[in-house]
Amino acid sequence: MATKKRDYYEVLGVGRSTSEEEIKRAYRKLAVKFHPDKNPDDPYAEEKFKELGEAYDVLMDADKRAAYDRFGHAAFEQGGGFRGGFHDPFDIFREVFGGGGGISGGIFETFFGGVAARGEDRQRGADLRYDMQITLEEAAFGAEKEIEVRKLDICDKCGGTGAESGSRSINCPVCGGRGQVMSSRGFFQVSQTCPRCRGVGHIVEKACRACEGEGRLEKPSRIKLKIPAGIADGSRLRSPRNGEAGIRGGPQGDLYVVVHVQEHKIFQRNQDNLYCEVPIPFSLATLGGEVPVPTLEAKANLKIPAGTQSGQMFKLRGKGVVHVNGREHGDLLVRVMVEVPTRLNDEQRAKLQEFAELCGEENTPLRKSFFERAKEFFH
Ligand SMILES: [Zn+2]
Ligand SMILES: [Zn+2]
Repeated sequence: MATKKRDYYEVLGVGRSTSEEEIKRAYRKLAVKFHPDKNPDDPYAEEKFKELGEAYDVLMDADKRAAYDRFGHAAFEQGGGFRGGFHDPFDIFREVFGGGGGISGGIFETFFGGVAARGEDRQRGADLRYDMQITLEEAAFGAEKEIEVRKLDICDKCGGTGAESGSRSINCPVCGGRGQVMSSRGFFQVSQTCPRCRGVGHIVEKACRACEGEGRLEKPSRIKLKIPAGIADGSRLRSPRNGEAGIRGGPQGDLYVVVHVQEHKIFQRNQDNLYCEVPIPFSLATLGGEVPVPTLEAKANLKIPAGTQSGQMFKLRGKGVVHVNGREHGDLLVRVMVEVPTRLNDEQRAKLQEFAELCGEENTPLRKSFFERAKEFFH
């Protein structure tokens, strides 16, 4: 029934300035008429009953009613002012009518019985987040890590059931198995979820003493994690069922591990490529030769051609990081920095001066072309 939504005031047959009391009265009258127990297998009545619940939910809440008066149904649509859905119409029904008092007790009995039967005792545990620092080497090659965290874990004593060993499940003594308890709130009898059994209707005869019946306990636990080779900084790994234990044997939450790759002393990483700077002596740059350069695995020899300039970049193919979930490796990019000697002894200075005289203006093509271009700036 994807028809256009009816006006909530119209649904309840009341005016826009109607008081809460009158809305309550109007709802009660119509809810009894369209109640599913009175209209079994009647989709029209069911739809009416739902519509009534929704209208009642909004008009009985001062904030929601104000929003509805201003914006209409748009106030509750996606992106509107109110988040979340409406209450279960049955919840409202229960609240307005309370228990046996008044209209037709028979309906409510089965109602509550049904709720109790539908109640779920077990609850899923929360997901957890763990921030983990790893080295660049661990990120590049992958690693097996073991972390220790304090979290709610399954109680060893009861195995997560929450029951003392040998204890049976019995009807809840507080609500008599209904899962709901009645209390008076002014004129109305209000029904609430039973605080003892949390609406389930039964409890364990004797709660486990170690976990007080929750089936879980806070304790340290060791978790093994596999870090895949090539993982990037900031990646999130999901470790299923390693979050908090569920309540009374409910499913476990997941653990999310956020990976932080530490800065490396030598290498910088850009995706799968590695980058580093290697100082080389001025004579080596001039004459050419070989220089050992570090790689993540060990080291490699880099051929330096004669006449290498400072800042020149060399690529060592495949010496970078493996692509995560792949086989291709990135490259290692080495920038050589020619080091100018700073302290010369007499003999070194004399030889270098001799060398300079031998060179004259030759052998410096870059310098020559620069001065050609800059001529006009020298007056
Ligand atoms: Zn226990
Ligand atoms: Zn109970």
